[in-house]
Amino acid sequence: MSYKVGMISLGCCKNQVDAEHMLADLAMNGFEICPDAEQCDAIVINTCGFIEDAKRESIESIFETARLKEGKLKVLAVTGCLSERYQQEFAEEVPEADVILGLGSMNNISQAIKEALDGKRVVSYGEKTALSLEGGRMLANEPYFAYLKIAEGCDNRCSFCSIPDIRGKFRSRKMEDIIAEAKELADKGVVEINVVAQDTTRYGQDIYGKLMLAELLRELCKIEKLHWVRILYCYPDHVNDELIDVIASEPKIVKYIDLPLQHISDPMLKSMRRRGNSEYIKKLLQKLRDRIEGVIIRTTFIAGLPGESEQDFEELCDFVRDQAFERLGCFAYSLEEDTPAGQMENQLDEETRRHRSDLIMELQMGIAEQIAHSFEGMVLEVLCEGYDVEAQCYFGRSYMDAPDIDTKVWFTGEAGIQPGQFVNVEVTGADGYDLTGEQV
Ligand code: SF4
Repeated sequence: MSYKVGMISLGCCKNQVDAEHMLADLAMNGFEICPDAEQCDAIVINTCGFIEDAKRESIESIFETARLKEGKLKVLAVTGCLSERYQQEFAEEVPEADVILGLGSMNNISQAIKEALDGKRVVSYGEKTALSLEGGRMLANEPYFAYLKIAEGCDNRCSFCSIPDIRGKFRSRKMEDIIAEAKELADKGVVEINVVAQDTTRYGQDIYGKLMLAELLRELCKIEKLHWVRILYCYPDHVNDELIDVIASEPKIVKYIDLPLQHISDPMLKSMRRRGNSEYIKKLLQKLRDRIEGVIIRTTFIAGLPGESEQDFEELCDFVRDQAFERLGCFAYSLEEDTPAGQMENQLDEETRRHRSDLIMELQMGIAEQIAHSFEGMVLEVLCEGYDVEAQCYFGRSYMDAPDIDTKVWFTGEAGIQPGQFVNVEVTGADGYDLTGEQV
């Protein structure tokens, strides 16, 4: 008899790739992957643990899932960043979990669940760098797009961020392994590849002694079956001319760049221990807009870092107004005790932090709606994602929309357009952040 196993993966797309590796391992070891939690004998919660809100969501998911033990559930397994970050303390405070694995032990998920089904509690952390970045994957999203994790960990050590301590030092995968995986995904029907890592732009520096993202992208574009290649999580000072040229010149690379800037005031950038000052950032943004036609820039900011003055915040607001980013997210600073920023004086109260990030998002709402309307009359290539019976129309994403984090295009068209199919859509309007249109 095969046991049914379910997976709940929280947090970012890099975490999702880890979950997909675990799913493939479980299926290979005789478990039946089951999407219905009520029917599962075991459930894995792949947690996120880098900021307060994410930790809270992970904990709530654990306690909610633990209640299924009143039913069919026998084993609750917890993996990912939260268990990695808090290790022994976590194992003591969460007796509901029968299996607790840190990053370095997630490769043994099948063995651990088998032992727990036999009644043993398994708590194991292993060396972070033992987390395998290779191997089979069972995609946890629609079959026509995939995240391609090209490296793990981070060496940037921004003062507010716990990720380097959770995920370990930056380590690139070999280019031939990445290309082989991308080819395999394309053979399985993936047409859009989203290149991800904590810092994609640092790719190759550790194992090849130089930045190799541009080279990697050229190789990815040679994979015939791939249609779109998208880059996420770029670090400003590694966005060099070679990378800009390859984005501008390769037709398969969507003219979209995800460039978390975090702030713009120099005192704040210094306090965040970010490389690159406001002048450098403004020049880079101008260069991207000058050199990449139709470029869509996504960025994220943090509001309310310790010591952020009214003036710093005003400067950020002015910057958001001036730059009119096509895609923008702003987080309220989360005090993480084991980070340099967490030890700083001049902590702002939570209300102020949240109020400031809300103000930035309100500002952005007006800007985003104006930008959306500016696309009226344009014909965009859209990756169809499905048909909404209630809305009586199709929905999908254009090159301007990364999966899961950006907006949609809602459009009418001929019958029978399939998810994963590309169609041309003339934009006829906008509804908030989303675009509306007709197939042409
Ligand atoms: S670049 Fe900075 S914010 Fe991003 S993961 Fe690395 S340390 Fe954290």
